[in-house]
Amino acid sequence: MEDKKNAGLIHWADQVADQIITEKGDKKQYVCASGITPSGTVHIGNFREMITTDLIVKALEDRGKKVRFIYSWDDYDRFRKVPKNLPEQDRLKQFLGHPVSSVPDPYGCHKSYAEHFEKQLEESLKDLDLNIEFIRQNEKFKSCTYAENIRTALKARARIKKILDKFRKEAHPEDWIPLEVYCEKCGTDFTKVTGYDEEYEISYECRCGNKNKIDFRKVGIVKPPWRVDWPMRWDVENVDFEPGGKEHSSAGGSRDTAKVIVKHIFQTEPPIYKMYDYIILKGIGGKMSGSLGNVISVQDVLDVYLPEILRFLFAGTKPNKEFALAFDDELFKVYDDFYKTERAYFLEDEKNPKKLAHLKRVYRLSIPFVMPKKLPIQPAFRTVCDTLQATQDKGRTKEIILADFKDPLPFDNIRAEKIIECADSWLSRYATEQFKIKINDKVPKKVISELSDAQVKALKSVKDNLKSNTYSADDLFGMFKETVTEENLEMKDFFKGFYLALIGKERGPRLTGFIKAIGEKKVIEILESLD
Ligand SMILES: [Zn+2]
Ligand SMILES: [Zn+2]
Repeated sequence: MEDKKNAGLIHWADQVADQIITEKGDKKQYVCASGITPSGTVHIGNFREMITTDLIVKALEDRGKKVRFIYSWDDYDRFRKVPKNLPEQDRLKQFLGHPVSSVPDPYGCHKSYAEHFEKQLEESLKDLDLNIEFIRQNEKFKSCTYAENIRTALKARARIKKILDKFRKEAHPEDWIPLEVYCEKCGTDFTKVTGYDEEYEISYECRCGNKNKIDFRKVGIVKPPWRVDWPMRWDVENVDFEPGGKEHSSAGGSRDTAKVIVKHIFQTEPPIYKMYDYIILKGIGGKMSGSLGNVISVQDVLDVYLPEILRFLFAGTKPNKEFALAFDDELFKVYDDFYKTERAYFLEDEKNPKKLAHLKRVYRLSIPFVMPKKLPIQPAFRTVCDTLQATQDKGRTKEIILADFKDPLPFDNIRAEKIIECADSWLSRYATEQFKIKINDKVPKKVISELSDAQVKALKSVKDNLKSNTYSADDLFGMFKETVTEENLEMKDFFKGFYLALIGKERGPRLTGFIKAIGEKKVIEILESLD
């Protein structure tokens, strides 16, 4: 079904995959890397790095290549700042300057601060089909894995200083040593390297008064600064591709200097690179800020978006393009856009062949794990919200969603269940009053006083009909038409009166389906209060 030859050139992930193969040559295995310091909740902006890498991994795999996708938890980095939303502020402040992997978990549920946020993210990825090998860098540094590479960097410190100083306002001091040391006594990095034997031994002094001489092949307390650490690990891990955020990508930024350092100090070619841009959040109010801690996590997004739609958002947008992630009612449109792409894949209803090939490729990259066998169920998000509020029952909502759909497969069942959960979260967290529906127990007095005689008579007549007959949704509409004619009422006034009676609003979801969702019994009960 898929036109690989055509689609292969059309998607940005395929273009990058081709570039990797061309520039890195034919390899048994390609390494795609990314990583982050778990300094707090890993937010959806950070996730862009993982998904960008994943899409390229998938494109390489589609070319029959073997790929290792590594993600570094840079949890031997220092704890710089306490995010304002965390509990135990005072206790956490005492750990500033320690590696994040040595800071206690303020929630008390994991071995460390770092592990708390690492696990939080890792668990939220399980439905997204990212086949990642996580590397906890604190373990690597503590076990002296990089001793040889650190020695290389230290011996080349004069050359590294020259490379870095080119981009610095203030040059590093003459005796600069590219190494950070965590004190063996107090655990912080408020230390200074005071001597180096040009091999593996360094001396250090700490603010706490402790001083010592150690062999960094045996004592894992050292780490190069970020600008040296990054290229060092490109070399060690043989990285062929790694994306970087906008903040690293500026001229003279860490990406620029890492490229020079990996080449001239570690004698390795830098990985292929792709810059990714920020994400704007729409409809949550306030700006997302890591240090304030009011961030949107991957799980927060998955609470309102299906996993395939989360992937679609990134697969369908070039990484270097900023885009808005909607939490307001624009989310309905995102669902619709995804459904349109899905239909293009299965029905091939896009006439422009180039566009069709692109849509199909985007769709293929969006679906985690196994592709559905046929066009899946596509419930409109708004309708799910309405139905859920009408029924107040997830099981019943699922029945209604699936009712008109022939031969649902497991994929459809899962989608129906997931979208109901998403609608439920969206209604409770982000929906404005406009989208909220509360079914009345009886017609409110205020409404009764506003209804015309004809409206009341029509509603009573509908109630009597509902009591004595059973109607399909289509039959219901016929019955409404007859009632309206009998009472000499405008259709729009009839609807208005009905919605006011049911939910106290002048408008609502399509009435026939809505009545079915609420259930005739309940509707009769409500209308009986007109007697
Ligand atoms: Zn925890
Ligand atoms: Zn100390």
